[in-house]
Amino acid sequence: MSASPKRARSRRLVVMSNRVGPVRGAARAGGLAVALVEALRESGGLWCGWSGRVADAVSDRPNLGEADGIRLATLDLSVAEHEDYYNGFCNRCLWPLFHFRIGLTAFERHYYEAYRRVNARFAHAFAPLLRADDLVWVHDYHLIHCGQELRAQGCRQALGFYLHIPFPSREVLLTLPNNDQLVQALFAYDVLGFQTARDVERFLDHVANECGAQVSGDRVTAYGRSVRVGAFPVGIDVAGFERLAHGGEGLRQWRRLREQLAGRQLIVGVDRLDYTKGLAERFQSYALLLETHPEARGRIEYMQIAPPSRGEVPEYAAIRAELEGLAGRINGRYAELDWIPLHYINRAYSRSALAGIYRASHIGLVTPLRDGMNLVAKEYVAAQDPADPGVLVLSRFAGAAWQMKAALIVNPYDQVAVAEALQTARDLPLEERRNRHAELLRGLREYDLARWREDFLAVLREAPAARAAA
Ligand code: ADP
Repeated sequence: MSASPKRARSRRLVVMSNRVGPVRGAARAGGLAVALVEALRESGGLWCGWSGRVADAVSDRPNLGEADGIRLATLDLSVAEHEDYYNGFCNRCLWPLFHFRIGLTAFERHYYEAYRRVNARFAHAFAPLLRADDLVWVHDYHLIHCGQELRAQGCRQALGFYLHIPFPSREVLLTLPNNDQLVQALFAYDVLGFQTARDVERFLDHVANECGAQVSGDRVTAYGRSVRVGAFPVGIDVAGFERLAHGGEGLRQWRRLREQLAGRQLIVGVDRLDYTKGLAERFQSYALLLETHPEARGRIEYMQIAPPSRGEVPEYAAIRAELEGLAGRINGRYAELDWIPLHYINRAYSRSALAGIYRASHIGLVTPLRDGMNLVAKEYVAAQDPADPGVLVLSRFAGAAWQMKAALIVNPYDQVAVAEALQTARDLPLEERRNRHAELLRGLREYDLARWREDFLAVLREAPAARAAA
C-alpha cells in the first residue's frame, strides 16, 4: 500500500466483468458500478465485458464505445454461449456450489467447455487493447479463467481478481469436476481478493491441501506462480445512501408507508429472488413469530420485496413457486379483514424508494443462507434515522456479519431463534437501538465503497511490473 497516489493515478485501470455499465446511470443503479466508474473515469480507464446482448451470429471483434471519458469494449454472446456459459456454468454450477449448495449444482461437461471458450474469447478480444502498465482488475466468478487466457496471449500486466461471492470450503469445491483447473487458473493473477477473512481461510485451506501451495504471510505460491491474497470487504457509498433516505423519493416513500402503517411495526426484507437468500426459511420464521406470539398479530407487518432473477434457470422457477405457496398459506392462516401479515412483492424499486422503505421499517430482516457480503444489510443501516433507528436482524452466514457485529446475529436455519430475534427486535429499547446503530454506522463509514476499491488497487499496484507470460 505504499504506491504514491500520483503515480497511481497515472496508471490506467482496466476493469473486466461479465456485464459492462451502466456508466451514466451508475449513480442511480448504485452499488459497485459507482466505485468502478469513479476509478475508471479518474484514470481514463477501459471497461471490458459482455454487452448484455445475445445474438445468432457473434463477432470476435469487440464493439468499442465511450461514455463519460471511459472507453468501453464489449462482446455479444451467442445463443449457445448464453445458455451453456452464463445460465449453465455460471448460474447452475458456480453460483450454487460457491454458496455451498451441492444439491442444486447441475454440472454438465459442455457447460464448463463453454465457460472456457467464452473466457478465452474475452481474453483474445480484449488483450490487444491493453497497454504495458495497465492495472487490470477482473471481477467475479464468470471470468476466473480470464487471467490465465490473458497470460496465454502474452499479457504481462498486473492482473487482479476479485471474487464477489463466497469461496466454498474444500470438501464442497472438490465435488465440482474440473475444480483443479479452476483453482489453478487463479494463480495466473497477481492479487486475489475475497470478501472476508473466512473466504481467504477456505481458499488457503484448499490450495495448501489440494494443490501443494506454500503459504507465507499473504503470499501463496503454487504452479510456479506467486499471488497475494487478501480480504477486501465490499462497502457502500454511505453518504450517498443517507442522502437518498432523507430527501425526494425516499422521503415520500417513508411518509406514505408510515401513514399506512398507522402505528403498526414493519419488518422489511429486500432481496433478489434467489434460493441463497433464505426466503422460505424467513417466511416460516415469521409465521412462527405469529404463532408463538399471538399478541404480535395485527400489530406487525412483514414486507418482502423480491424481484425475480435468472428466470431461465429451473432452480429459480422452483423457489418462486415455493414462495408463492408459502406466502399464500401464511396470509390465508393469519390475515384478518383489516390486516395482512405478509406483503410479498415481486418487483424492483428505485434505490431512493428502497432507502425510504428501509427507513420507514422497524426491523430489517436479512437472513441469507449464504452470501458473499450482502449490501442490503449495509444499505438498511445507512438509511436509518440515527435518533430513532430500526434494528437489523442479520444472518451469520452473510459476509456482512463479520463486520456488523452490533446487529442481532442469527442462524437462518434455526427458525425458532429467528422468530425470537424478531421478538427481541420489536421490544428493543431506544437507547440500545441507538447504540447498536451508531456502532454499525461507524463500521460502514470506515470500510466504505471507496476504501474497498482503494485497498484492492493499492495491493495491485505493488505487483511486479512485468511477469513472464504463461
Ligand atoms: P446480490 O448481489 O446477491 O443480489 P446484495 O445484497 O449484495 O445481493 O446486493 C443487492 C443489491 O440489489 C442491493 O444494492 C439492493 O439495493 C439491490 N436490490 C435488491 N432488491 C431490489 C429491489 N427490489 N429493487 C431495487 N434494488 C434492489
